[in-house]
Amino acid sequence: MAEQDYYQTLGVAKDASDQEIKKAYRKLALKYHPDKNPDDKEAEEKFKQAAEAYQILSDKEKRQVYDQYGHAGLRGSGGFGGFNADAFSGFEDILGDFFGFGRGGGGSRSRTRARQGRSLEQVLELGFMEAFEGVDKTVKVVKNENCDTCEGSGLRAGASRKTCGTCGGHGQVQVQSGFFAISRTCPTCRGTGQIVDPSDRCRTCYGKGVVEKETEIKVHIQPGVDTGMQLRVSGKGEPGQHGGPPGDLYLHLKVEEHEYFHRKGDDLYASVPISFSQAALGTELPIPTLKGEEQLAIPEGTQSGKRFRIPGAGFSIVGRPHRFGDLYVEVVVQTPTKLSKKERELYKELAALNDESAQEEKSVFQKVVDFFN
Ligand SMILES: [Zn+2]
Ligand SMILES: [Zn+2]
Repeated sequence: MAEQDYYQTLGVAKDASDQEIKKAYRKLALKYHPDKNPDDKEAEEKFKQAAEAYQILSDKEKRQVYDQYGHAGLRGSGGFGGFNADAFSGFEDILGDFFGFGRGGGGSRSRTRARQGRSLEQVLELGFMEAFEGVDKTVKVVKNENCDTCEGSGLRAGASRKTCGTCGGHGQVQVQSGFFAISRTCPTCRGTGQIVDPSDRCRTCYGKGVVEKETEIKVHIQPGVDTGMQLRVSGKGEPGQHGGPPGDLYLHLKVEEHEYFHRKGDDLYASVPISFSQAALGTELPIPTLKGEEQLAIPEGTQSGKRFRIPGAGFSIVGRPHRFGDLYVEVVVQTPTKLSKKERELYKELAALNDESAQEEKSVFQKVVDFFN
């Protein structure tokens, strides 16, 4: 999975106005909303992607960072995990009472809105052969988990939340602005309508409901993955709030280089040294491949730099088991540097022979000289 181009996802131009972005997102969100597409994984994915794109492009600062630095810039702003995959937060504001969620009865916001947990990103390094064969990996992730002591409530045993005194439990306060009184989210309880007395806080998590823990997550890596690919491990991000779903874990794959094979997509490239006489007379060469040795026939009169293809001896293809790319072998003719006495004599004899045949057939050089005269 490649990183999405947010403008492409929403189908808008790079210089689209806020209004155009909002309109495009609204259209996609309505089309792919999970309520309209039950059990449709692809629609859910599109819905999430649109929400992510809207979250970035509707925020002036984030959009500017994204325009300048792309995804790398957004990661840099908050370290890994800076992107908060709260697919529903922008959605609620923009769609209002569509699908009957968002605004609660009487015009006040739902107090304990379900929120998806934060998504996490991490780099996963793989060996060359691990990427070729596929592998099961255990990934260590440090993340917030629900506190075991209070089961995520943030409360000491036996304690309960109290009604917020500032807003009387409404979650909203009235603020006078000129002639009008407008509603604002209560700053004391942040809109929940409830507060926890400091003495009632859970001692393990200090009232946060979550504690940081190192967790081991098992993932299966398919054969054929490459550097730059991303693996989404659904639901392995941080826990959701108020019954919301957990976030996802994104693993950015980094595959180790091989000292002998150079990889380009599903194909492999290698070079093999051969001697003068092998190139001139032809030979059979044993070629090491990832699946064992193959015999390669080198025909007589092979030039240095000639490339041979061994079909199916390349890299695994992701998602297509038992399918492989090709291996390209380039032969490099080695010019001998240290000759024995005997070799020197033989080469001299060869040279003399070559001279005779060259004289019989006018050299290309001589033909050029003749042409100008
Ligand atoms: Zn309040
Ligand atoms: Zn706790």
